[in-house]
Amino acid sequence: QDQQIRTVDKEALLEKDRAHMWHHMSPFNPNPMIVTEASGSWVTDIDGNKYLDGMSGLWCVNIGYGRQELADAAYEQLKEMAYFPLTQSHVPAIKLSEKVSEWLGDEYRVFFSNSGSEANEVAFKIARQYHHQNGEPGRYKFISRHRAYHGNTMGALAATGQSIRKQKYEPLAPGFLHVSPPYCYRCPFGKTYGNCNLECAQVYDEVINWEGAGSVAAVIMEPTITGGGVIVPPPEYMPKVREICDKYGVLLIVDEVICGFGRSGQKFGHQNFGVKPDIVTMAKGITSAYLPLSATAVRAEIADKFNEQGVNLHFRHVNTFGGNPAACALALKNLELMEEEQMIERAGRLGEELREKLAFLEEHPNVGDIRSFGFLMGIEMVENRDTKEPAAPDKLAKIIGACKKRGLIIGRNGDTVPGFNNVLTLSPPFSTTSEDINFIAQVLREAFDELNQ
Ligand code: PMP
Repeated sequence: QDQQIRTVDKEALLEKDRAHMWHHMSPFNPNPMIVTEASGSWVTDIDGNKYLDGMSGLWCVNIGYGRQELADAAYEQLKEMAYFPLTQSHVPAIKLSEKVSEWLGDEYRVFFSNSGSEANEVAFKIARQYHHQNGEPGRYKFISRHRAYHGNTMGALAATGQSIRKQKYEPLAPGFLHVSPPYCYRCPFGKTYGNCNLECAQVYDEVINWEGAGSVAAVIMEPTITGGGVIVPPPEYMPKVREICDKYGVLLIVDEVICGFGRSGQKFGHQNFGVKPDIVTMAKGITSAYLPLSATAVRAEIADKFNEQGVNLHFRHVNTFGGNPAACALALKNLELMEEEQMIERAGRLGEELREKLAFLEEHPNVGDIRSFGFLMGIEMVENRDTKEPAAPDKLAKIIGACKKRGLIIGRNGDTVPGFNNVLTLSPPFSTTSEDINFIAQVLREAFDELNQ
C-alpha cells in the first residue's frame, strides 16, 4: 500500500514538476530522480530505491547526509538571531572566519557570499582593487586554464575554460586568458613527465611576459582541475606557478570550491603542494551543502591595502544573504565535527582504499588513465589504449546507467570540448565505509564487464 501511495504521489509530483520547474542543465528533464531521504552516503528516491551517492551531490556533501548536529546548529541559530547584514557583524560569522583562517594556517580575512561563483567574483574584484590601491591600476587580466570550471556568472564563466559552457552567453567579462593545463596523460606540449622542464608551469612566465606583467592581476586555479576531467598536476607545478606569480607581482587565487574541506586528504587542496595562495575561494564543503554559503579568504597583507594608514577604503561589494548566521553556525559545526571525527585523515585513507580497490580497471581496454586526488577520482575512458582516442559518449552513458541500475551514482566531467567529455568521476561523502567501497568496486566491475558484451 505504501508503494501505491508513493506511485500516486510520484505521478502527481512529476506532473507539477513538468508544469513548473526549470531544471539546472536540461530545463525539461522529463523524468528526474525525486530524492526524498538521505543518510550517510546513501540517498533514497521516491520509489524507495537506495543509491550510494558516489558524487556527494555536486561534489559537496563532504561530511555525509543526515547529521542531526548540523540541523540543530542551524535551528538554534535561527531561533536566537536569524539575520543581520555583514556591513556590521555577528557571532557565527566571527567564529567561522576565525576557524577558516585556522584551517588555512595563516592570517587571512574572510568575506562571505553564497555560492562558489560569487566567491570567485569577489576574488576578481578584490584582486583588481588591490592593484589599484597598490598604484598599479593597469593590472586587470586574469589567467585561467583550459578545461577549468570556475562558475556560472559572467566573470567566473569567463574564467572557465570550457567552450561549450560559454557559447550562446557571450560576450562574457573581458580580460580572461587561458593556458594549457598540466595534463600529463595527454601533454599539451607533447612532452613526457620527468623529461619536460614543466612547460605547463613555465607557460605562465611566457604569457605574463608577453601580455605585459603590468596588465596581469592574478592567476586563478584549482589545486586539481575537478569538473574538467580530474587533472592532477605534478607536485612541482603549483610551487612553480607561485614562484612565477611572485616574480611578476601577480596574485595567486586558488579555487578550493571542490578541493577544500578535506576532499584532497588535507584541509585545503593547495596544502598538498606547500604553496601559500594570496586569495582562497571556497563553498560546497564549507557547510557540506546543508545550507548555501561561500567565502573568499584574503591574505592579511593584501587585505591591509584596503585599510592603508587607517583609511578604510571601500570595497564596493555587498550581498544580502552572504554569511547568513544559520549557515555560518552550521558551517562551524561542520568543521568542528570534521576535526573531532578526524574526517580529513579519513578522506585521505578512503581515497587510497578506493584507488586500490579499483586497480583492476587499469587492465580494461577502455580505461586509459585513472587519476585520484584525496577522495576524488577520475577514470578516463578511451576507445583504444594505444591511440588514446577518447571513448564515445555512449560508452560513458552505458557505464553510468549500469551503475545506476545497481544503486550507484557516479558522474562524468562536465561538457568540455566535443569528444573530450570522457572522464567518469567519483567523489563520495567521507561517511563512506569500507563496505561501501567494496560495493563501488563490485558495481564498477560489473558495469565495465558488460560494456563490450
Ligand atoms: N569553482 C569550482 C571549482 C566549482 O566546481 C564550482 C561548482 N561546481 C564553482 C566554482 C561554482 O560554484 P557554485 O555552483 O556554488 O556557484
